Amino acid sequence: MFFFYENRNGLVAQLAEEAIKSCHALYSPTIPVGKVSLQKRKPLFTIIDDDASTHTQSILYTIAGELGFKFGSCVILDRPQNNTPVFLNWDQLRTLQSDGHEILSHTMTHAHLGLIPESQLDYELGTSRDILLQQGFVARHFVYPGGSYVKNNACEKTDTSVLNKVRNYYDSAWVINESINKGELFNNYKGLLIGFDALGTLGSAKAAVDQIFANGGWLVLMMHVFQPQWATPKNRKNYGI
Ligand SMILES: [Zn+2]
Repeated sequence: MFFFYENRNGLVAQLAEEAIKSCHALYSPTIPVGKVSLQKRKPLFTIIDDDASTHTQSILYTIAGELGFKFGSCVILDRPQNNTPVFLNWDQLRTLQSDGHEILSHTMTHAHLGLIPESQLDYELGTSRDILLQQGFVARHFVYPGGSYVKNNACEKTDTSVLNKVRNYYDSAWVINESINKGELFNNYKGLLIGFDALGTLGSAKAAVDQIFANGGWLVLMMHVFQPQWATPKNRKNYGI
């Protein structure tokens, strides 16, 4: 199965810090651009599971416990708030956190940020962070639902109004892009995820891991453990995501 480069608490937070530091160093006046990059650093490997379904606990948490790795779980906040069946409740999320897994915000309602009025962004971003805080989770990182981070999901991705708002609340934000994060290209508000579900095979996931060991970079795999290859088709239907 999978492993992390290293097991430690707050893995996503700490790796983000390292990557962000190295990328800031890229533009530091004392370090010539291009001399420091993720390519030249040790390989970094993170797993994030989407949507915090009960399968996160029954499948991924179990595997992680057996093999000794940590993962990030991104939470749609209205699910635990409303005790929605098939999603993790507050106690289950606390169990994950107390075992060293990391909780990330994934908005209040799974809204695609590029498609909602700007006036709702504070609710989706800020209220979700604040509720996590009230419940004892320091969520410093965010995953864009549906990969939506520009207004109207425009092809022209120069619009930064969503990203600017995300910056007010989080240290990093992540979007599926099927690429490995490299120093010169790394933008911590457009951190790149490879969708393991889309990637399909264990062989292609292993190939991505081989790449970071050969060339450096930060591989962040995103998975949905409620999907059929992890759970049953019947289970997947229950989530309506
Ligand atoms: Zn999601």
